[in-house]
Amino acid sequence: MQSNEPYIGSVRFFKNIIFLCCILGVLIPTGLALRWRSRAKTAESLLAQNAVVLTGEEDEAASEAEAASAETEPEADSSDEQEPLSYQLLYPDFYAPTPLPDIEDAGKIIYLTFDDGPSDRTDEVLKILDEKGVKATFFVIGREDETSIQRIKKAAAAGHTIGMHSYSHDYEKIYTSVEDFLDDFYKLFVILRDEAGVIPTVFRFPGGSLNNYNQGVYKEIIAEMLRRGFRYYDWNLSAEDAAKKSPSASTIVEGITSYSAQKKHGVVLMHDSAHCKTTVEALPALIDTLREQGFDFAPLDRTVRQVSFHYRSASNQS
Ligand SMILES: [Zn+2]
Repeated sequence: MQSNEPYIGSVRFFKNIIFLCCILGVLIPTGLALRWRSRAKTAESLLAQNAVVLTGEEDEAASEAEAASAETEPEADSSDEQEPLSYQLLYPDFYAPTPLPDIEDAGKIIYLTFDDGPSDRTDEVLKILDEKGVKATFFVIGREDETSIQRIKKAAAAGHTIGMHSYSHDYEKIYTSVEDFLDDFYKLFVILRDEAGVIPTVFRFPGGSLNNYNQGVYKEIIAEMLRRGFRYYDWNLSAEDAAKKSPSASTIVEGITSYSAQKKHGVVLMHDSAHCKTTVEALPALIDTLREQGFDFAPLDRTVRQVSFHYRSASNQS
């Protein structure tokens, strides 16, 4: 019965090879699809539980209703038995010191935020804020020199919030994967904690939470950062001072205050960068005008309702 033909190279050998390929062809895609589905599900459920709010005045009422309902809804799927995702095990000390608090309604408040510092402008900004009795938020990047660390300490000691804005500010690097994002933000977290003595609990995405670089990963990043207790803030008012050629001080004041009047709650994007001379010049008049409009000022903390870009539609970025 047994053929003398060697097995390797025989018809039976090739039949077996084809059979094996068919089996693998079914198993591998099925496995990948299941894994992807469970990751997507985790991200979606975390986003839903944490009531990410839409931006834009016209959306404000709707988003508040949505947020309120999301807050009162029981957790639909707490699925604690789910195996942790590999990146959830990274950096076990990269957590906010306490769990995420609930959002509180704080009234008519402006949150001034300064990105990309500390810089040679930080001291001037701090001086004006102090003179005006205003607390603000600094979303800082990875500057480790002694002067920068002192500036961060000084801002924190004055009662301003220090938030994270990435170590490298390198979009291509941080938005490659959740792991790359965590790796970069953790580096900044450690500097702030160990050098400046500040444990940050809020952050801002470079380029905002939804931008041209992060569309494939932003939902997972948001979910993972929320899980670690960090809340992020986009903005609904801007000094438009990111470009090297800044607008004039009066343009900055007008640009912000013409939109702020109809808002209940404003998060103002400004930059703490060497080129932002006019931002500093605009600051006193900006604060005065916003006060005239009935606003108080506060630094961000995690109880503040988020202002964030519309995350359901990638086309709606401002
Ligand atoms: Zn930035």
